[in-house]
Amino acid sequence: MVTALKRLGFDKVFDTNTGADLTIVEEANELVERITNGETLPMITSCSPGWVRFIEMNYPELLDHLSSCKSPHQMFGSILKSYYAKKAGIDPSKMYVVSVMPCTAKKFEKIRPEMKNDSLPNVDSVITTRELARMIKQANIHFTTLEESEFDDPMGEATGAGAIFGTTGGVMEAALRTAYESITGEELQKLDFEEVRGKKGIKKAAIKIGDKEIKVAVAHGLSNAREILEEIKNGKADYQFVEIMACPGGCIMGGGQPIVTSKKRNEIDVRATRAQALYNIDKNSKYRKSHENPAIKKLYEEYLEKPGSYRAHKLLHTTYQKREKYVNLKK
Ligand code: SF4
Repeated sequence: MVTALKRLGFDKVFDTNTGADLTIVEEANELVERITNGETLPMITSCSPGWVRFIEMNYPELLDHLSSCKSPHQMFGSILKSYYAKKAGIDPSKMYVVSVMPCTAKKFEKIRPEMKNDSLPNVDSVITTRELARMIKQANIHFTTLEESEFDDPMGEATGAGAIFGTTGGVMEAALRTAYESITGEELQKLDFEEVRGKKGIKKAAIKIGDKEIKVAVAHGLSNAREILEEIKNGKADYQFVEIMACPGGCIMGGGQPIVTSKKRNEIDVRATRAQALYNIDKNSKYRKSHENPAIKKLYEEYLEKPGSYRAHKLLHTTYQKREKYVNLKK
């Protein structure tokens, strides 16, 4: 994909999974702070713009529960136009950042007025994976015969935790790996949190972290999200952390993903196959915890100082608002 994107004319190609690592570090820090300071719980993930829009329209009274973290590609765009631009000696107003996403809702997310820093949009354009595939075909690039190439440095490296972000339960699992080590100061021995994996619409678990027990829930698909929100609204939820993704299965089944047209589609469990592919990437990754990503460590050392710092908040966090159910985006 890197080779194809370069042939299509992109100067640099970075891995959004690095942005996912950054999201995890900020989100895990926010969770630990909320637990320690007795702030609003459960904290709910905010990386799925389809889901964020749903809660803004249907449960605005629960917006305080949303993590203030921007989604991975928005965080990444913001870092590219600040830290990276400075390092590479590029005027950020001359950069045009395109995110390749599995998601059609990210097209709406990128035009939210909050997704800007110094009046520059964090991301200039979003294309879906399906659109990219079409562009590659139109350019007569023979994808299967392309030579491999690496993502560009210094932001190219990503961890297995960043990779599993794409499947239901993956954000939770990645955040737990980081939160565990942050809370206990000890090395986490068992990295796989099987309790939050799998197809079940709502998964619940109690995770032991040091002397604390963290109750978590994972929901995918908006009817399952509604169930969790009703529990919170009625004071029946005792979770500390909830992951919600709008698409059933998570981003692997996002609205922008390739549609399986093969005759075998009834024989293949597409969702399970795609999820397994991400778990395999995770298993075979050199680094499997977001906070151990060398590129992320360097970013904090050289620029952001620490998770939740003033600069991190300015660049990587956002706010939400009550929204009407139907809006004219052209206005
Ligand atoms: S779950 Fe769906 S709506 Fe949410 S980010 Fe992933 S693809 Fe987009």
